[in-house]
Amino acid sequence: VTIPATELERLGVLGHGNGGTVYKVQDKCTSKIYALKVIHDGGDETNRRKVYKEIDILRKTDSPHVVRCYETYEKPWGEVAILMEYMDAGNLDTLRRKKGTLSDPELADITRQILKGLSYLHGNKIIHLDIKPSNLLVNDKMQVKIADFGESMIMDRTSDLCNSYVGTCAYMSPERFDPNANGGNYNGFLADIWSLGVTLMELYVGHFPLLPAGKKPDWPSLMCAICFDDPPTLPPTASDELCNFLECCLHKDPSTRWTAFQLLEHPFLIKYTANDD
Ligand code: ADP
Ligand code: MG
Repeated sequence: VTIPATELERLGVLGHGNGGTVYKVQDKCTSKIYALKVIHDGGDETNRRKVYKEIDILRKTDSPHVVRCYETYEKPWGEVAILMEYMDAGNLDTLRRKKGTLSDPELADITRQILKGLSYLHGNKIIHLDIKPSNLLVNDKMQVKIADFGESMIMDRTSDLCNSYVGTCAYMSPERFDPNANGGNYNGFLADIWSLGVTLMELYVGHFPLLPAGKKPDWPSLMCAICFDDPPTLPPTASDELCNFLECCLHKDPSTRWTAFQLLEHPFLIKYTANDD
């Protein structure tokens, strides 16, 4: 089924990003609600390249844990848009601000869904490279889906992680700052696992965990915290399973960090085996 752009009515704004806006839209024909990510005309070349990469990846993916893309539009004057499934509970950053912090069972449920999405992507040679709370979307069924593939890479023989464009560095793994550490020979997919670890820790403690609460995340203090400090740890009240799970995500040396496939079998997730989707 194709949905003509002229049938879409804009109902409001869901989010802003670099060079683009995400709108809540309604198909006037079916009344169905969607999200429409629009990259405005006149946006710079980098943003255009990113949106084409995002389209390329969304067209290749088919997973309940990756946001679904239904249509893409390109107007002759250069505005590009992606029609996606609407995730009506926002993203994990807004969810955390609304709910305060999350409990172990809630966190295990969210984590399992993200890991299923990541293992799907990694199994298909896609590295997301921008895993963070605002790129993980939620709906009213508490389904969590990975979105925003603007920084992603499809790994083939010519891919070079060292050249990957860096948007925000707060969730970036140590080896992305210094790709030549450990001989430069590492599995790029593990960069997403570090970012997942930082994300989950943020959801648990309620603030960005690599810097003291309230500190402005400027580039030098982030770089020092990520590359030179020990990995962050949870407060003593946290459960052993959760502490160990996050430790497995936050090994600074990527060669010992757990993969998405391994983490799905971790005792923290086994303990809260929920309804399997
Ligand atoms: P950017 O590249 O600008 O960061 P994102 O794809 O991350 O763009 O979207 C920005 C924000 O818009 C997200 O953090 C989310 O809050 C909202 N958003 C994006 N896609 C959807 C969607 N499919 N459903 C609901 N909200 C969305
Ligand atoms: Mg984003």
